[in-house]
Amino acid sequence: MKKITIAIDGFSSCGKSTMAKDLAREVGYIYVDTGAMYRSVTLYALRHQLFNEDGSIKVDLLEQHMPQINISFKLNAETGRPDTYLNGECVEKEIRTLEVSNHVSPIAALPFVRQALVAQQQKMGCDKGVVMDGRDIGTVVFPDAELKIFVTASAEVRAQRRFDELQQKGMPADFDDILKNVQERDYIDSHREVSPLRKADDALELDNSHMTIAEQKQWLMEQFKKATTTL
Ligand code: C5P
Repeated sequence: MKKITIAIDGFSSCGKSTMAKDLAREVGYIYVDTGAMYRSVTLYALRHQLFNEDGSIKVDLLEQHMPQINISFKLNAETGRPDTYLNGECVEKEIRTLEVSNHVSPIAALPFVRQALVAQQQKMGCDKGVVMDGRDIGTVVFPDAELKIFVTASAEVRAQRRFDELQQKGMPADFDDILKNVQERDYIDSHREVSPLRKADDALELDNSHMTIAEQKQWLMEQFKKATTTL
């Protein structure tokens, strides 16, 4: 069967990556978590003191460092899912902390960061057979993707899911801090000048506030079948 490109965009913590990972595994496609790439640049910036005391970014320095930031994915045999590597080190856990979440959106708003990461993402998906999740996949990275999904859910539902996920992983979590972070990221991601988060005109919208993971999975499989049979 001819392979297609699947773009899954949407707000923070709306379950995009769970949906995208499951679909990729089910249909044998590559999964790319582009948020993990922006998170890895943020972790690098935090580790190299590229933030000022007031939280602003040392933009010129970060731009100089960009060529030294190498992000890759390797399949984890135990989980069956790809782990994120920053300059050869597995950072899958480190990039999910609230500290990284609190610093990532301003980093992702920098044009030179986006340019570098979008180029890598386009390379990763150039042979199709890819499920990529993020904010600008259907609008900027793969505007010609055959299947585009835009996922939404209320901020409270998303914060609760993130809270549950962190607790399950034994990581520190405070619901109010998470809700604030989700709302702030929504705002910055939707209002930045370069590639703001928006639904592509030809994307299918899915509000999953009241759907179970199994229901979402079924809905997504139906869309996949429709998109591949109409080719
Ligand atoms: O998807 P996730 O929540 O891990 O993404 C972290 C952050 O990375 C987002 O809040 C957003 O600022 C940024 N991002 C982006 N473009 C993408 C993916 C993520 O700007 N394609």
